[in-house]
Order: sequence, then structure tokens, then C-alpha cells
Amino acid sequence: MAEVALTGVGKVYPDGTRAVTDLNLTIADGEFLVLVGPSGCGKTTALRMLAGLEEISEGQVTIGGRVVNRVPSRDRDVAMVFQSYALYPHLSVRDNIGFGLSLRKMPKAQIREKVEHAARILGLSDHLDRKPRNLSGGQRQRVAMGRAIVREPQAFLMDEPLSNLDAKLRVQTRAEIARIQRDLGVTTVYVTHDQTEAMTLGDRVAVMKKGVLQQVAPPQELYDRPANLFVAGFIGSPAMNLVQGSLSGDAANPRLRIGDQTLHLPAEVLRDRPGLAAHLGRDVVVGIRPEDMEDGELAGTAEGAVLTSTVELVEAMGSDVLVHFTLQAAPVVTDDTRELARDAGTDVLGALDETPHTELVARFSPRTG
Ligand code: ATP
Repeated sequence: MAEVALTGVGKVYPDGTRAVTDLNLTIADGEFLVLVGPSGCGKTTALRMLAGLEEISEGQVTIGGRVVNRVPSRDRDVAMVFQSYALYPHLSVRDNIGFGLSLRKMPKAQIREKVEHAARILGLSDHLDRKPRNLSGGQRQRVAMGRAIVREPQAFLMDEPLSNLDAKLRVQTRAEIARIQRDLGVTTVYVTHDQTEAMTLGDRVAVMKKGVLQQVAPPQELYDRPANLFVAGFIGSPAMNLVQGSLSGDAANPRLRIGDQTLHLPAEVLRDRPGLAAHLGRDVVVGIRPEDMEDGELAGTAEGAVLTSTVELVEAMGSDVLVHFTLQAAPVVTDDTRELARDAGTDVLGALDETPHTELVARFSPRTG
């Protein structure tokens, strides 16, 4: 186990494509860090540089305090788990898991012990003599993990290990990966484009866009305090609503204008948020989480504290009801679970929750770019 650190790391491919720019990240010993971002943001490239599968163009990578820029992959003491399980079809589960150890000429009895230990952790003890074709997708992925576990590496590097599994199995295997990582306490870097996976697995989550790290923080902090509009819109499902508005009034009596509607904000909104007062008199982007809104009429909210719009679509999803409407030309979604199943075409929908104004502006994100 070890700390893994990237300092000023960059990657330019031979054809001139810049995939990663000035990446600085330190993953603590035993930490589970998830790298997340849309397709093409450079997360796989970053992981492959850690693994030694891709040359590092700029900066430095250390594993357990050792600079590994020039250390070949096999000598880095890390174990990769890929989305394709890459199992040998003609070998049993036992031999697949122990394959790397056999290559290293480890004594057979020792291999047997390690393989059986890993199989117990992974719940594969009853399947050790099967061939991969006789396993489910989830079991195959566990065999691939077994191969990583028996090597007892300093770090696990995982590249979308769940993406070949169906939705149900993905949730189940995700929980297993979290448990195994916690039990083993191995430093783990995990790449995914799926923000739900990132939020549920990571001790911290690093969000990347176009090769540049946007924010790295524990999941809840990322959700509550996104550093910029990209993170605000990327993290959360359904996504945060982002609406154009402007902040007006003064410190004692601030107002938020959205289209031709005005919300009166309590003064503490500015007091509690240093920096926000500087935006008085300016255009802003207002971020409102779907769950922070409720039906203003049902909640009996006072005038001056409600935004009005017309319901366009109601989607009943079982536990949640998603209500779609438009504010200042932006599509907006709320997931009020109470009696909000109003019909499309109905008027009046308050953009509020129990602590309306505070919450509304708590999600405020400064305009970027
Ligand atoms: P995905 O989720 O689709 O795998 P990613 O975030 O992992 O995406 P990378 O695979 O790291 O992204 O790719 C980052 C950028 O580098 C992309 O623009 C990609 O086209 C480019 N790229 C990747 N591999 C190469 C290569 N061998 N040569 C040139 N460009 C490459």
C-alpha cells in the first residue's frame, strides 16, 4: 500500500493531441479516489500513465514515494483491472487468478493459499474449478479482481470495471468493490464516466474536463459546493438546474431576478457567503438542485418568495415524481416526492424548499468562461 502522487503531469500524444494538462493529485495511502468526467476528458490517459502503459510527457508520478516516470509497468507494483476482463478462456478460475504468480515462479503451495484467500474475499470459492465461460459477467469481473488482489500490489488501478455489466449487476458489483477495497485498504484509483458510480465509491472524487482537473473533493462537498458550472452540472442526477438571473438590491435587501420575476432574499444569504456581495448588480447563473424546490402553492409560501412557471411534463418514477418546467428559457426539473403530480399545463410552481432562499442561493455558482 502506498501514496500515489501526480505532480504537474501532462500528456501529449505523438500526433499532437493534448490529453492531460498539469494534473496535480495526491491519493493518500489506502484512499479510494475516483477520476470522473465525460468521454475524452483524459481520465483513462491519466490512469495509464500511473500504470506505466503510457509515457508521461510532463511532470512526475510517484508511487510509495518512488518516482516511477521511467519504471516499466511490471516493476511499478500496481495492479490494473480493465473493463474487458481479459481472462484466459482455457484456464480455470483458479489458474486465471494465480496466473501472474505462476509467471513469477512462486511456489505452488503459496499460490494455492493466496488464490483461495482471494476467492474467499470475492465469494468465488465454489467456482475455482470452472472455466470463465461458465461464469456470469459479475463473477468474471471478480476473477479479474482476484488476479489483482493476489499480487498484493501497492495500488489498484481500475478502468471502468463495471461497464460491461447490466444495470442490476453493476450496482451489486459496485458495492462489492467498495467492500473489498475497504477490507484490503489498498490505495485505489478508479476511472469512470458515471457520476453515480463516482459519488458512491469515492472517498474523494476528481472531476476532469478536457484534460484539466476541475475539482477534487469528497462526494458530498462536490455536490454541495461545486467549484464551477461544469462540476455543478455534471454531478447530480437529475442534474442541477442552471438558470440565468441577476442579483440586485443591496446588502440589507438583496433580490434575485429570473426573467421577469423577482425573489426577495434574506440579508443573511449575503452575510453567510463571503464573495457573493461582489455579484450585486451583476448577471449570475443560479444553480438549483431539483430536490430543493417544491410546489410553492402547496407549501403556502408567501408572495415574493415564489417563482412561477408552467408545468410541461410530469414523470412518475415510483419513488420520485419529476416535474419539468421552464424558467428564463432554461428547462428545469424538480423531484418533489409529495403530491406534485399536477398535470402538464398547470400553472404555478414554486422554486423553493423548506429553507427556501438560503438553499436557493447556497447552490449559486459564479459564471465561468
Ligand atoms: P473515454 O471515457 O471515452 O475512454 P477518457 O476520458 O478516458 O475517455 P482518454 O481516452 O484519456 O479519455 O482520451 C483523452 C483524449 O486523448 C481524447 O481526445 C482522445 O481522443 C485522445 N487520445 C487517446 N488516446 C490517444 C492516442 N493513442 N493518440 C492520440 N490521441 C489519443
